Amino acid sequence: MDNYNSRARELRRRRRRRRVIRNRIIFACVVILLVVGIVFLVKWLSSGSSETPKDTSAPAANATEATGTSAEAGTTQAAAGADWQAVLAEADIHCKQYNYDKAIELVKGVNGYEGIPELSDAISRYEAEKAKAVPYDKMSEITHVFYHTLVIDGSVTFHLSDAKKVKDYNQVMTTIDEFNKITQEMYDRGYVLVDIHDIAHLETQPDGTQKMVWGTIYLPEGKTPFVLSQDDVSYYEYMEGDGFANRLVIDENGSITNEIDQADGSVVTGSYDMVPLVEDFIREHPDFSYRGARGIIALTGYNGILGYRTAPKYGDPSDSSYKPEYAKYNVDEERQKATAVAARMQELGWRFASHSWGHKDYGALSFEKLQTDAQKWEDQVEPLLGGNIDTIIFPFGADLGEGSWRGYDHSDSIQQKYKYLDGLGFDYYCPVDGSQYWTQMKDGYFRQGRRNLDGIRMWWAVSGYKDTLSDLFDANKVFDKTRPTPVENL
Ligand SMILES: [Zn+2]
Repeated sequence: MDNYNSRARELRRRRRRRRVIRNRIIFACVVILLVVGIVFLVKWLSSGSSETPKDTSAPAANATEATGTSAEAGTTQAAAGADWQAVLAEADIHCKQYNYDKAIELVKGVNGYEGIPELSDAISRYEAEKAKAVPYDKMSEITHVFYHTLVIDGSVTFHLSDAKKVKDYNQVMTTIDEFNKITQEMYDRGYVLVDIHDIAHLETQPDGTQKMVWGTIYLPEGKTPFVLSQDDVSYYEYMEGDGFANRLVIDENGSITNEIDQADGSVVTGSYDMVPLVEDFIREHPDFSYRGARGIIALTGYNGILGYRTAPKYGDPSDSSYKPEYAKYNVDEERQKATAVAARMQELGWRFASHSWGHKDYGALSFEKLQTDAQKWEDQVEPLLGGNIDTIIFPFGADLGEGSWRGYDHSDSIQQKYKYLDGLGFDYYCPVDGSQYWTQMKDGYFRQGRRNLDGIRMWWAVSGYKDTLSDLFDANKVFDKTRPTPVENL
């Protein structure tokens, strides 16, 4: 009996224990469900409330709020995050290009930037970089280098059957391979591309007159500013088929690139000349450009500009130099395309210069002939560039006459030519000069000598005759092996 009673008690105890366990499981499930529910509720509430401050930032966010679904509120939040990240990426480039104030201003333009750690960190970083930049103290010693249209493949261009052309190209041209090596080495040595307008600019005086004054360039120690230009970016008729690009175009991303017309009628697109190559380089190395500066492109007008046949003769069978094959050109269309490319280049920071209309020596030309040529450039070329071109890059490295290096008041005939060109709006004058730098500042103008980084200069260095390039790069590492040697000075 005792035994029976104790077994019955044991069974009751076990049943009770099972009931307790079951109740505990049910309770635990309820608690878990409650916790999950609360978490979801809190998440939903917080996504709703964080929407509020962002709504003031953009009309698009307000529009989303009006439709009122939480899914769209989430999208807005993501978009706002992407927005400040895009601003930060842009500001970082401005900082790398030594435009610290612009970088700081951009970040401070983001609503609630103080509350975003990445943005307040960026401002401290930009301020620290700004503190390292000092005014460049050798403004009158800034060098200016220039190229002609680049040779794509020396084994083609330097081995054409026309010996006269080969000599000419070998002397004054530079290959893409040489250009890339020079650019890389100048970058490695701390050279930074500046705009000629960063060096000097016209300033209005208290009496209302204008005077050319030095600018201020802020760079960290160890950086050296330089100006870049390229002459005759016309892709002249005489160069067709000689292994150069045929024109500059705008690609689907709004970048500037080249086209090469192939013999079979197809077109190859890519970076085959200086402008797109510099764009590629700056994309990789933003700190190669001071505040977005690019180079100066010097243009004549007798064929057209940038590879477009914009000169009147292409559309005028009564013109004495008209050829039947010009019938393929629609000159209005050529001009529209040239205008679009030039405008996009200017947006990117490129500047344009007159290289005279007919590639004329302005020093040797009579005043009357200079007037005629300069006026043709004003009428036919400047409008394609949006007007207001203020720079002359003299063909043949010439200037306005014998002794003009002393100043444009050196003789009456020089003064007369200068006054005329000044009246057309030219304030920057660039001859060619072999020395490392040559500048001249006068009240009415700024002059800067340019150095040709071409076959003859590199040959001088490589052959041991004289090295005028060693401050920029080592010619022995650069000189293209496809060049016939010796390179002759024509
Ligand atoms: Zn030229």
